[in-house]
Amino acid sequence: MDKVRVRFAPSPTGPLHIGGVRTALFNYLFAKHNNGEFLLRIEDTDQTRFVPGAEEYIQKSLEWVGISPDESPWNPGECGPYRQSERKGMYMEYAQKLIDEGNAYYAFDTPEELDAMRERLKKAKVATPQYNGITRMQMKNSLTLPEDDVKRRLESGEPYVIRLKVPRKEEVRLNDMVRGWVMVHSHTIDDKILMKSDGMPTYHLANVVDDHLMGITHVIRGEEWLPSAPLHVLLYQYLGWEDTMPRFAHLPLLLKPDGHGKLSKRDGDRLGFPVFPMQWADPSTGDISQGYKEDGFLPEAFINFLAFLGWSPGNNDEMFTLEKL
Ligand code: GLU
Repeated sequence: MDKVRVRFAPSPTGPLHIGGVRTALFNYLFAKHNNGEFLLRIEDTDQTRFVPGAEEYIQKSLEWVGISPDESPWNPGECGPYRQSERKGMYMEYAQKLIDEGNAYYAFDTPEELDAMRERLKKAKVATPQYNGITRMQMKNSLTLPEDDVKRRLESGEPYVIRLKVPRKEEVRLNDMVRGWVMVHSHTIDDKILMKSDGMPTYHLANVVDDHLMGITHVIRGEEWLPSAPLHVLLYQYLGWEDTMPRFAHLPLLLKPDGHGKLSKRDGDRLGFPVFPMQWADPSTGDISQGYKEDGFLPEAFINFLAFLGWSPGNNDEMFTLEKL
């Protein structure tokens, strides 16, 4: 088997949340247990959700609990994060391959046109309006426009996005390490945007391309990403990477105390405990670059607590260091 390589891939959209630390911990432990490597990848391609200081916060939080990446993109022997924004020139090449092979297309719809489409679908009582095989026929995309027209629009600088062309009738399957076989019908998957009009890739494209190029063998992440996994499987197929597709393990989420709903970044204050022992410096502006305040937890206790959520060693041992875990 290939050397195990896993990654923790947070988006810098806010402070690291306790569930995120747990995901990082599971990845880290899986790597160490298998003599593998753990990478940190900052998924910062969504400029609109970027929060200043968040990346530093994530790194400091991981450092605090003793989790550090095993390699750096820049200097061999150094340990640092990969950043998708620093790799942005690369993703278009793969989007282009998808277009050239008929698995993706340009779409020129304006926000108003998209709103009108959603309205139409709502009126037609379509439960979850999607951009898919049916709407594709109605919209101004490169599948419905003559080739010359597409060329002219591109040359004139008309804004466009690139969408994945999801097949209309196909079963998409994946064997999740936690959930077992998961199967979805492709008509339930949106023609997701892969490249945005600002030239940046979306999460889906960047995530799959990077996992492939970084030789990731296991994708261990929160269950909220399970619905995206079939789309990722399609991308692996279309990009010709099916043979080296990583194995997926979608972890159950940490829930609110009443058992309903996912614990999220916003819940920290409301529930009367910090989502992470280091808090925002300035909640009014959301700027977290100003400094860090610890809340009196020991990192060892924190790690121990996280490891024991949903797991038991099967004996009376209650104290586990990172090493022992
Ligand atoms: N950037 C995603 C997040 O913020 C990562 C999901 C994944 O691990 O694929 O959770």
